[in-house]
Amino acid sequence: MKKKQFKAESQRLLDLMINSIYTHKEIFLREIISNASDAMDKLAYLALTDDRVGVSREDMAITITRSEKERTITVSDRGIGMDREEMEENLGTICKSGSLGFKQTMEKNEDIDIIGQFGVGFYSAFMVADSITVISRKYGEDKAWKWVSNGADGYTVTEAERELPGTDVIMKLKEDTEEEQFSKYLEEYELRSLIRKYSDYIRYPIHMEVTKSRKAADSTEEEPRYEDYSEVETLNSMVPLWQRSKKDVTQEEYETFYREKFFDYNKPVATIHQSAEGSVSFKALLYIPGKAPYDFYTKDFKRGLQLYSAGVMIMDACEDLLPEHFRFVRGIVDSQDLSLNISRELLQHDRQLTVIARNLEKKIKSELLSLLEKDREKYEQFYAAFGRQLKYGTVADYGAHKDACQDLLLFYSHKQNKLISLKEYVQAMPEGQEKIYYIPGENRQRLAAMPQVKTLEGKGYDVLLFTEDVDEFVPQTLMTYMEKSFCNAASEDLGLQTEEEKKELEAKAKELQGLLTFVQDALKEQVKEVRLSDALGNFPVCLVPEGGMSFEMEKYMKRVNPEFAFGVGRILELNPEHSAVQAMQRYLTEDAVKAGSYAKLLYGQALLMADLPLEDTAAYTELVCGLMN
Ligand code: ADP
Repeated sequence: MKKKQFKAESQRLLDLMINSIYTHKEIFLREIISNASDAMDKLAYLALTDDRVGVSREDMAITITRSEKERTITVSDRGIGMDREEMEENLGTICKSGSLGFKQTMEKNEDIDIIGQFGVGFYSAFMVADSITVISRKYGEDKAWKWVSNGADGYTVTEAERELPGTDVIMKLKEDTEEEQFSKYLEEYELRSLIRKYSDYIRYPIHMEVTKSRKAADSTEEEPRYEDYSEVETLNSMVPLWQRSKKDVTQEEYETFYREKFFDYNKPVATIHQSAEGSVSFKALLYIPGKAPYDFYTKDFKRGLQLYSAGVMIMDACEDLLPEHFRFVRGIVDSQDLSLNISRELLQHDRQLTVIARNLEKKIKSELLSLLEKDREKYEQFYAAFGRQLKYGTVADYGAHKDACQDLLLFYSHKQNKLISLKEYVQAMPEGQEKIYYIPGENRQRLAAMPQVKTLEGKGYDVLLFTEDVDEFVPQTLMTYMEKSFCNAASEDLGLQTEEEKKELEAKAKELQGLLTFVQDALKEQVKEVRLSDALGNFPVCLVPEGGMSFEMEKYMKRVNPEFAFGVGRILELNPEHSAVQAMQRYLTEDAVKAGSYAKLLYGQALLMADLPLEDTAAYTELVCGLMN
C-alpha cells in the first residue's frame, strides 16, 4: 500500500522532533495523556446533551500498558475517537490548534527549546518512538481505523478492529543509544513519576497494572516468604489544582501548572486562587503573566478563561468571563451552578456568567493594585508587557471601563525620571499647581527639551512624557483625575500667567503689532495666527495647534488612518525677548527681504521642534544658504 506524505510544514516539524536534542523528551507522555483526556471531555460534553451516549464520566479512564518484549507503551482512552478523515486531518497535519503557535514561532526561529513552550501534542511522541500506531473508533460508528507511521516517510491508514469507541496510541520506543536510554520509559517507576509530575490533575483516573509484593500464603513467622502479584492502580490524584484548598498548594505547584497549561515558560507575576460562595459559587484560578504572548496585540490572540462545570470542560476560551481590558489574564473558572442543559450559544449570555465575570474583574483589579503598591519591580515587568492594553482599556467605549483601569496606569515622570501612577503625580503636586501636565511626542529626550517643559520645570511642576500613540487619548477620555484636570503642555494654555503678566504681554503685542502682521503676511496661509508668548524661555519660537486637536493626533491619524487625516491649524508664537526675534524686528524697516527670510527660517525651526515635516525642504536649504552667504 502506498504511504501518504505529511504536509510540508508537518514534515519540517517532524524532522525537528525526530532529531531533537531537546532534553525534556519526557513531555511526550503528558501530551498523549492530555489528548486522551480531551477526547473523553468531548464525549462527556456530548453526554450532557445526548442521552444516547450512555457513558458518564465515572466510566471513563485512561489505561497505560507496557510491553518490554515489544518495547511499546500504549495509552488507551474511552473518548470520542476519530474516524478515517479525522485521523488524516488531525494526525497528518500539524497546523492544528495548539500546534499552530508552535509552527509560527518555528518559522521565525528554529530554537529547539521552544518545543517545551507549546503543546506540540501528538508529534512529541516521535521524540521517543520510532513508530506510532493509532487505533481509533469514533463514537457512533461501527468501523475502527488504524493509522501507522514511522515518522520520516509518511503514514498509512487501514481498517481495524476495536470493541468500544475510543483510541489506543501505541508507541514503539527507539533503541537505546550511548547517550539516551529510551527503555527507561518502560519502567513502572519512571511512568509513575512522570504522571505525578505532569498529569496528576487529569480528571480521569490513569490506570496501570503495577507489580506489588505480598506475603505468600505459606509464609510463616520463622520463614517469611513474599510473592509478587499485579494490580491495577490509579496513578494520578485527579483533584484539579483549583479544587484544592489554597493552603495545600505550593507556589511551585501553581507555577508548574501555569507553565504546563498555558505554555508560558515565564513565571506569572501574580496568581489569584479564589473560592466564592453566594448567589453563584465558583472556583477560579487566575494568572497574570509577566510577558505578552507573541500574538497578544494581534487579532489572532484569543481572550478568555477556560470554563469548567462540575469537572467537565465546557469552553476553552470563554470571553464573557473576562473583560477586554484584562484580556491578558489566563486561567480557569469552575462552577457547578451553570445551567448546562442549554446550548453553548445561550450559555454565553448566562446571568451567572455575568456575576462571576464582575466578581473576577474586581479581584483582578485589586490584585494588580496591591502588586503596584507592594512589588513595584514585578508590577513594572507586568506593565511593560500589558500597560498598552490597560491604556486601550481606559479609552475604549468612551471610557466606560475607566474605573477598572485608570488607577493602574503608569506614565513617565519628567521630574522623577521614572514611571509613576496618576495618583502619585497628584499626591506630589506642589502647593499652587492646579493641573496635571503632560506632553505628547516622539521620545523622552525630545520632550524634555521642549520650552513648555522647561517652563514647568522652572515652576517645580512635573510633566508626564507621553510617547505612545494611545497616551494622549487617556486624558481626553478621563477629563479629570482626583478632581484635577489635565493640560496638554504642548497645545494648551499652561495657566501660569498672572493678570499682571497677561497685561504686560498684551501691551507688548500692541507695540509689536507691525512685526506680527509682517510675519503673518510672510507666511501666508501656512499659519493661522502669529502671536507673542512669554513662556518660551530660551527658545525664539514655538508652534501651537489651533483648537482642541494636537499635532501628535494629526501625525497619529496620518499614520494609522490616512483617509481621515486632517491638518491641525498652526499658531506661531514668538518670544519677544529672544535676540533672533529682535533681529527680525530690526530688519523690518532696514531690509524687508531679509526680515521675510528670517520669518520663514523661524517658522522652519518651529516645525522642526514640533517634529512636523518642513513643507519644502529644498527651499528651506536655499534660504539658510542664502543667509549664510
Ligand atoms: P492538539 O491536542 O493541540 O489539538 P495534537 O497534535 O495533540 O494537537 O492532536 C491533534 C488532534 O488529534 C487533536 O486536536 C484531536 O482532535 C486529535 N486527537 C489526538 N489524540 C486523540 C485521542 N486520543 N482521541 C481523539 N482524538 C485525538
